Parts: sequence; C-alpha cells; structure tokens
Amino acid sequence: MKILVINCGSSSLKFKLIEMQDETVLAKGNCERIGAGGHVKCKANGTTVSYDCELQNHAAAFEKVSELLMNGDTKVIDSPDDIAAIGHRVVQGGDIFHKSVLVDEKVKDGIRSLIDLAPLHNSANLQGIECAEAAFPGKPNVCVFDNAFHSTMPPRAYMYPLPYRYYQDYKVRKYGFHGTSHRYISVRLHGMHPEYRKIIICHIGNGSSVSAIKDGEVMDTSMGMTPLDGFIMGTRCGSIDPAIVTYIQEKEGVSPERMNEIMNKESGLLGLSGVSSDMRDLRKAANAGNERAQLALDVLYYQVAQQIGAYMVSLGGFDALVFTAGIGENTPMTRKIVCDFFKFFGMKLDPKKNEAAIGKEMRISTDDSSVAVYVIPTDEELMIARDTKALIRR
Ligand code: ADP
Repeated sequence: MKILVINCGSSSLKFKLIEMQDETVLAKGNCERIGAGGHVKCKANGTTVSYDCELQNHAAAFEKVSELLMNGDTKVIDSPDDIAAIGHRVVQGGDIFHKSVLVDEKVKDGIRSLIDLAPLHNSANLQGIECAEAAFPGKPNVCVFDNAFHSTMPPRAYMYPLPYRYYQDYKVRKYGFHGTSHRYISVRLHGMHPEYRKIIICHIGNGSSVSAIKDGEVMDTSMGMTPLDGFIMGTRCGSIDPAIVTYIQEKEGVSPERMNEIMNKESGLLGLSGVSSDMRDLRKAANAGNERAQLALDVLYYQVAQQIGAYMVSLGGFDALVFTAGIGENTPMTRKIVCDFFKFFGMKLDPKKNEAAIGKEMRISTDDSSVAVYVIPTDEELMIARDTKALIRR
C-alpha cells in the first residue's frame, strides 16, 4: 500500500510517497515559490532532479508531483491508482479536531472555520486537500493535525490569564504545535522503554518546541495559541514581555501586521545575531569570534534548559529526555550545554556517545545518569502515513 504525504504551505508543497509494507520512502521532494515562479525537487530511485518551472498555483504543483511520480527518472508508480490514499498535515485543529480524520465536507468546513487562528497555514492546508481531491479523484484523504496530540493538556496549562471572554469569544488559548513530531517520539520511546512514564521532548529546529509527556499524554508544551510562542527559534522570538509589542509599535509607528512579521521572520537567532537563522552559520561565526552569534547561541541553550526545568516541575520529575529535529539531532554541542545545566540533578552525558549521535537514534547518557537522555530522529511524515493507513482500513 502506497501513501502520499502532503505538507502544503502558502508557497510550497512538500511530498513523500511511502510504501507502507516496509515503511520505506519511494520518493520525496518539494515544490517551492508557488505563485512566484516555481522550483521543483524530487528524489527517487537514487536520483535527484531539481529545476525551475512555472508553478502558477497549488493545482499546478500537484500536477507536477503526479508527473514526477509517474514519469522519467523519478517514476515510482504507473498511475494515480497506485496511490491508496493521501495524508495531509494540517496545522491548526483548534479544539474541534483531537485526532486524525478522514476528509469529508464537514471536516473541510471545520478547517475553514479555524483559518482565523492560523491564516497562512490552514488556508494553504485546505487548498492542498482540495487540489489532492482534484488530482487523485476518488482517493481517500486524511488530515493529521499539528496540535491534536496536545489536546490532553489540562486547563491550567492551556489557559492564558486574560479576560475569560477572549477564550469564550475567540478561542484564545494554548494549542501547541509540532504535535505529530512529539507523538512520533513518544510512541517510539514507549516502544523501546515502556517503563518511562514521564518524558520531556526537545524538538529543536528552525521552529522549536519542548513538550512534557506523562503516560503518553501531553501535560504541557511550549508553543502557544500560535507557533510564535515558546523559546528562541530560527527567526521567531518565542515568549517575550508582551508589553514590548506595543512599546515598539509606538516608538516606530509599526502596524500590527508589520510587528507580526518582525517577531516571526526577523527575530530569534537571526535577529539577535544579525548573522543567520541557521545553526551551522552561527557556530561558524561564533567560532570566528562573532560575539552576537555566540550570544544568540547562549540564549538558545539557556532557554531550552529553562523550558526543561519548567517541565520537570510540571511532571514532578522525569525519566527521559529526548532531543530531536535539525538542531536536536545534529548538534552534540547543544545537547552537552543544555544537559550541563542539569548536572546538579545528576544528569550525565557520555561524551563519546553524544558526539557519535548525529542524525541517528541513540541513548547518549551514562548508565548512572539520573535520567536517560536520547537522540531520536523525528519522522512526521511517517506518522501521518501511519494514521492515514489506519483510518482508511477502518
Ligand atoms: P524545520 O523546523 O524547518 O523543520 P529543521 O528541523 O530541519 O527545521 O532544523 C533546521 C536547523 O537544524 C537549522 O538551524 C540547521 O542549521 C540545523 N541543522 C540541520 N542539520 C545540521 C547539521 N548537520 N549540523 C548542524 N546543524 C544542523
């Protein structure tokens, strides 16, 4: 059974075709700059094709994906009929969707009703679903929501201390994101060590979030009503004193839209360092003596450690800590500095194992560490494909 996984952004479409029999990836790629030129990349059969081409809209991008999967060097299927179903990442499920669902008109209305809460994401996700319905007629589509896994959070974790009517009228509350990644890690670790009841997962990439999980259920997570909340990210500021927003707006006559853009795209590691949002560039710059690049890294390490500390309290201690995503999986230095904050608590990394764990699954703590520390590469697409398979079988 082959499942196509789609992650549709406002100007991009990422795809992966997975053979579910052995969960292998047959093809993966992306369409970028949709509506503003166009570029496609696809890796399949051991070759990669990458070229510019006109992609006027998401429908054109879907046509391109079908063409790539059925023709030339990247051909992996004979016809659209070879695809059993399509699984979609949907960012905001609000408090309507607490688990993955098969798409029907009611589900699409639900996603549409949540566009206000995630304007860029949910409208692109909906567009992706509608284009998939047109490109693969008659095939089931499944939605996997980014925040569904976080729906077990108790009210004390998800409520903001604002007038209660904002929650009632506009659904202002913490939803959390990266849920599919946190769920993948939680399931994976449970499969290896069912005895770990309390775990803290650090998903550190361009976007980052930490979650606190007890018996497979999320108790708290660092992203909030939007993916801007939490700690410092590539270009997002994470949590800041809320009064700063109006202060800067008044000082510089900045509109709410522009302020939103500054906090989402010009802040974080990029804003602080003035160098880059990318960990590799920052480390190079810091090693060459750039103090602001080092400052940005110091803030990242400190804030991740603080977040773990907070969740240690939420969970009443913890059994395991997991690092995942681009930075979490690939930078031993980040893991070392973050874990060093917990020396007082008896957390100990094995330096050799930590250095060796680059993009691979490994336990990196010593046998006598107070908590087990792991690197587990995340796989959101596989989780989406598994949910899709389970739902279409039902
Ligand atoms: P996204 O949130 O876009 O999915 P990723 O999880 O891919 O992001 O993480 C991107 C971050 O991971 C970037 O800061 C990048 O520099 C860092 N990263 C990825 N691979 C490596 C590596 N091999 N060494 C150091 N940093 C890496």
